[in-house]
Amino acid sequence: MVVGEHRTTKLVIDRDALRQNIKNEKSLLASDTNLFAVVKANAYGHGLVQIAQEAIAAGADGLCVAILDEALELRNAAIDVPILVLGITEVDNAAIAQQYNISLTVGSVEWLQDFQRMAFKHASSNKLNVHLAVDTGMGRIGFREIGEFKQALQLVNQAPFNFEGLFTHFATADETNQDYFNHQMTIWHQLTDDMDTMPPIVHVANSATSLWHLPVTGNMIRFGMAMYGLNPSGYEIETPFKLKPVLSLVTKIDFVKQIKQGEFVSYGATYQAKADEWIGTIPLGYADGYPRRMQGFHVLVAEQFCEIVGRVCMDQIMIRLPSKLPVGTDVTLIGRQHGKQISSEDVAEYAHTINYEIMTSMAPRLKRVYIN
Ligand SMILES: *Cc1c(COP(=O)(O)O)cnc(C)c1O
Repeated sequence: MVVGEHRTTKLVIDRDALRQNIKNEKSLLASDTNLFAVVKANAYGHGLVQIAQEAIAAGADGLCVAILDEALELRNAAIDVPILVLGITEVDNAAIAQQYNISLTVGSVEWLQDFQRMAFKHASSNKLNVHLAVDTGMGRIGFREIGEFKQALQLVNQAPFNFEGLFTHFATADETNQDYFNHQMTIWHQLTDDMDTMPPIVHVANSATSLWHLPVTGNMIRFGMAMYGLNPSGYEIETPFKLKPVLSLVTKIDFVKQIKQGEFVSYGATYQAKADEWIGTIPLGYADGYPRRMQGFHVLVAEQFCEIVGRVCMDQIMIRLPSKLPVGTDVTLIGRQHGKQISSEDVAEYAHTINYEIMTSMAPRLKRVYIN
């Protein structure tokens, strides 16, 4: 994977902002509630290992990832806190998790039986840490039916399993209407209330739940978006503390020219100058994860909003400058320039998506610079 080291375009990642978001959330939690930092998808574009280490230093008790390879990357970096894989891992690969003490999510009896059969063949002294997922209404993975769930409970309480966790996931915790959230809570109670023994870790809260639904069942939260300083609801609901955005996307103008009234810019010649205009070119494009549909949006240059003119190219973007500015002038695409700000939510709304997708689209080609 090539990283643009010799390039002005970069993601600036503010570790102090990350620490503050974690500290502020922890101050809302009961003292026996653990915070697991969700670092899947390259820590939402921020850099897997760096963010994991920083989050642990700031008080995170464990980590959540989406796939086994992300967990292995963390173990390779000598990170030894508990790690939970939130997605389904193939039974064939589960022995690797067992070997590296990585906890897996399980949502079916069949999976447990298959693993049990395999484990007989390659007897290992380690147990496999299992978190049972309960589908209370997300409709993605997990047990939905009490009979099958009870059967799973019997299985996980035997070798080769260590029944470590039980969880569910909410579909609408980031909405003002709480009806569906409450419905999921009811299903949760129906499925889990008469369990004889609870596993040590019970968790139902993502960022949205941990911001707007406390106190909530369980003793661990899966803290993702809000740790990166971003509001899971977009601009919909205010957060109980001020989130500090961790990431900025910045570059510098690398070419400046004046075009005449009536001349065109970029592919398709979709932008025509209404007057003689100064145009700057900046060295990033949709291959870096900045959406192609951002033509007509703006960036910050010298504390002023400047329009993106013409189509966003793969590696370059043109912007209209208020006047002739020198090559090397700072440009902010996401982040702050003194009083003015462009948030990833602003970019997301213009691109008709959510800030989660903008964050996780930030390409590996972008250099990541850690400050503070
Ligand atoms: C991604 C994910 C999270 C984190 O969600 P945020 O909204 O980023 O806090 C929590 N739980 C599960 C199951 C997830 O898949």
